[in-house]
Amino acid sequence: MNESAPGEAILPVSPVSHAAAFGIMAHHLHDDALPPTAQGSMSSDEFAVMLDYFGSRLLPAREWLERCRAGALRDEICITFDDALRGQYDVALPILEAKGLTALYFIYTGIYEIESSDEASVLETHRYFRNVHFKNVDDFYADFHTIVSRSSHADIVAARVERDFDPQTYLSAYQVYSSSDRLFRFVRDEVLGPEAYRGMVDDMIVTAGLEKGDIAEQVFLSEDHILTLHDRGHEIGLHSTTHPTRMENLSRDHQFTEYRRNSLSIERICGETPRTMSHPSNSYNASTLDVLVELDVDVGFRADCVQGGLSPMLELPRDNHTDLIHSID
Ligand SMILES: [Zn+2]
Repeated sequence: MNESAPGEAILPVSPVSHAAAFGIMAHHLHDDALPPTAQGSMSSDEFAVMLDYFGSRLLPAREWLERCRAGALRDEICITFDDALRGQYDVALPILEAKGLTALYFIYTGIYEIESSDEASVLETHRYFRNVHFKNVDDFYADFHTIVSRSSHADIVAARVERDFDPQTYLSAYQVYSSSDRLFRFVRDEVLGPEAYRGMVDDMIVTAGLEKGDIAEQVFLSEDHILTLHDRGHEIGLHSTTHPTRMENLSRDHQFTEYRRNSLSIERICGETPRTMSHPSNSYNASTLDVLVELDVDVGFRADCVQGGLSPMLELPRDNHTDLIHSID
């Protein structure tokens, strides 16, 4: 899921930021058996090369945590994964094990709870549908615009595009977007809004003869995967329940619920209370940090290379080494 704030510079990571980071982060991974499910997904070979690049600076998860808590880190770093994605097990685990490494997995758990699984899984299941079911993203856009033109939103979409959409200026900060990328985002974000958009893509999934539940199985780790990771020495940490993209806009109570439900779910799956976390979409404020302390969390990560100043142990910088395109979805 999107871990970068809109407007953040999309730049390759510099050697300076490597030196400042406490962890490296990865999202989508693929290999010959598992297709890339996101633009910018990292291949198994690229992942292995990245581990080699960092070499002896990398420590197994629990050893790294021990040193971190003791204030005894020099330049050692850990490997972290956000969002409970399947490739982090199928693709990454054999490579990690061959090198004697373990990682920190930050899991949002709404996807494992009946009452919130639809809401929590929507971004990744839709991303999968777009990237795997269609030959390329333009084919998806073509189908999407056809559905829109046959819907009750057709007139308003046509009028707004005619009046307000200018591919030269809309999202002009993101040079990587094509004009069809811009038109899609304009219709989705400026005209339809999240609910109508979600309904349309859900309809497209049904029309394609697919089941959302089957897609979710392809996309996410299962509870068994999470327990296996925990039992093999990987660290399982928090990443909220529903992965709000703007945690900082929620009240303290709402934030507490997001993280407490997340903590209870992980405890249910692994039999241990999690004490580490990463901030979904890099969004938090003083209330978030307060909530985390109340839940006994003592190590937390940002999604960029900036060291936070409010509570440094809960705002450790990470190197977003992968999928720079994916991060601006
Ligand atoms: Zn995330």
